[in-house]
Amino acid sequence: MKTVPEFFGCNVFDDRVMKASLPSEVYNSLRKTIDEGENLDISLANAVATAMKDWAVQHGATHYTHWFQPLTGITAEKHDSFISPSPDGGVIMEFSGKELIKGEPDASSFPSGGLRATFEARGYTAWDPTSYAFIKDKTLCIPTAFCSYGGEALDKKTPLLRSMEALNKQAMRIIRLFGNDNVKCVRTSVGPEQEYFLIDKEMYNKRQDLIFTGRTLFGAKSPKGQEMDDHYFGVIKPRVAEYMEDLNNELWKLGILAKTQHNEVAPAQHELAPIYTTTNVATDHNQLTMEIMQKVAARHGLVCLLHEKPFAGVNGSGKHNNWSISTDTGVNLLSPGETPYENAQFLLFLCAVIKAVDDYQDLLRISVATAGNDHRLGANEAPPAVVSIFLGDELNAILEAIETGATYNALEKTQMKLGVNVLPRFTRDTTDRNRTSPFAFTGNKFEFRMLGSSNSIACANIMLNTAVAESLKIYADRLEKADDFKTALHEMIRKTIKDHKRIIFNGNGYDDAWMKEAVEKRGLLNYRTTADCIPHLLDKKNVGLLTSHKVMSEAEINSRCEITLDNYCKTIVIEANTMVNMARCEIAPAVEEYINDMAKTASLKKALDNNITVSYESSIVKRLSEITEKIYKYTDELEKETGRICSIENVIDESAAIRDSLLDIMKNLRTACDEAETLTAKKYWPFPTYGELLFSVK
Ligand code: ADP
Ligand code: MG
Repeated sequence: MKTVPEFFGCNVFDDRVMKASLPSEVYNSLRKTIDEGENLDISLANAVATAMKDWAVQHGATHYTHWFQPLTGITAEKHDSFISPSPDGGVIMEFSGKELIKGEPDASSFPSGGLRATFEARGYTAWDPTSYAFIKDKTLCIPTAFCSYGGEALDKKTPLLRSMEALNKQAMRIIRLFGNDNVKCVRTSVGPEQEYFLIDKEMYNKRQDLIFTGRTLFGAKSPKGQEMDDHYFGVIKPRVAEYMEDLNNELWKLGILAKTQHNEVAPAQHELAPIYTTTNVATDHNQLTMEIMQKVAARHGLVCLLHEKPFAGVNGSGKHNNWSISTDTGVNLLSPGETPYENAQFLLFLCAVIKAVDDYQDLLRISVATAGNDHRLGANEAPPAVVSIFLGDELNAILEAIETGATYNALEKTQMKLGVNVLPRFTRDTTDRNRTSPFAFTGNKFEFRMLGSSNSIACANIMLNTAVAESLKIYADRLEKADDFKTALHEMIRKTIKDHKRIIFNGNGYDDAWMKEAVEKRGLLNYRTTADCIPHLLDKKNVGLLTSHKVMSEAEINSRCEITLDNYCKTIVIEANTMVNMARCEIAPAVEEYINDMAKTASLKKALDNNITVSYESSIVKRLSEITEKIYKYTDELEKETGRICSIENVIDESAAIRDSLLDIMKNLRTACDEAETLTAKKYWPFPTYGELLFSVK
């Protein structure tokens, strides 16, 4: 058997393969394209394409595809085989530079939010050479960006790459001001921690809600949930361990740095974290990881649920976006340095993030908004819907001292000034276990914890990169003109702390008192649902930010707003329809059957001997009859209201109607059905219960 170093990345056309298979001048210019974003000449593209094809064919591939991330949130691919007829009746395998660089899928069924008229339904895909091509299911997958013919982005990758470029541009200005001349570029890196549930496939198949919506829409609480805390970091069960082993192998073959795995808080819940890497590669890898997780699960008779809230009453799943900024020379700009000078630079970048998160709380909230994630944010298990930053006590004390000009006492009495040798050396705070903060500084990176488990990480990083680019731009504009760099720098850091300290909160984010303080005293935004926050994408300041850094055009922003809300509405309408169907065709008939049998039992007993009491049967029949009345009532209401909502033209109004009426009816229907479940004999219940779903994988 091969060892991991022997097979790691064996399905990736990575640097090792490029170096070995390309003529050196082709390799060198491709490297330049990858590292510095230079355009690749078509003749060189031909050479790359041929090498890629030869390698892929040798590794069993028959097809190629431009692999992209449309706005649906998942990945898309259209396969073409390499075959080309030869005169002798056979075929040869062909692949040209043109085919590598550009593809033209018929894109009419991908959401464009009005960006594309139907008569020009075709979009085009353009090769992203910064993310390596790979083989999956005998197909060479070429990571690409996806645009309309007018050049507008129809995907998540294009704005992500633009946001990385925006941040690079502004950060480089700051780096130069600090006199670092050897740095060529600045990049952000991300390590996304991915949570998921594993359940038995046979049980899954019996539940329409899981099949159609990825979550349970009904289900009474299981007698045991997560209250014992016995699952978190617990021993991994054999079937799950086999799954994880298989999954790791598949991910490693694709060059994905799967590193950490453990059980999570809820029963049947687990987590996988890779080693961090450049943001766009991390994004591609996370999309691939989610896909492979589901595929490998199927091989083990399991289903991997990536929904944010598959089960009520136990924790849902999120994704922690660990984010940092570093130079191509390997310096992490969010790491406190060894010298005061490095520390001054660190504090400036830290302040840039603080300012960005405060100024663009709404964009961060928007970037994680989906129907699924609405079940988590603010629900005592995930960070609240209010954005705030956790810095830890030491860093907080340093910032306070800078703001007030006071002495900082942690190590020694020190006057806080920057750029001179009196800035204290502070140790990295690695003990952060404050899990309740939406945006926590964890020593040398920020951990953005509001993402849902099924979210693409692209959106969050687009907003984060762009907002930080804006802070840095404001700083650079000011510092480039300053007569006295040190004084200006000190002043600016102080001003940032003063103006934006309201966003810093080191306490318990789940506390009700914090919600009150955040909203009432500090004036922080609290957009509870997707319907509340998404329309604010169109706010003038947000459009201004995204357009001025050339991350998205106004048309692209409009289309994203439209698509996100449309997706929210469709998701919930499908859930409502599924509920109606399950309540009417499965739950109500099961309950009626039980009522019928109980009533029969009672009358048989009475016929036998009128003195026999039948109060047990009577009470069950009575209670369940009351409940079935409710079930019928709410089912009808839900059906009617869904119909009404679907006829609303404007998607902002439609999403508001869903928030204001549909969700409540769904809740009422569920409550009635779940109560019926607790009263109905098990053998009548039409699908697996929570207890069975959550505890069956051994
Ligand atoms: P935990 O949050 O569970 O304590 P870690 O903090 O060790 O775990 O790491 C979580 C994730 O953060 C991993 O994916 C890791 O690769 C990533 N990470 C670590 N350092 C950085 C960094 N400088 N930039 C971005 N991500 C990082
Ligand atoms: Mg973490």
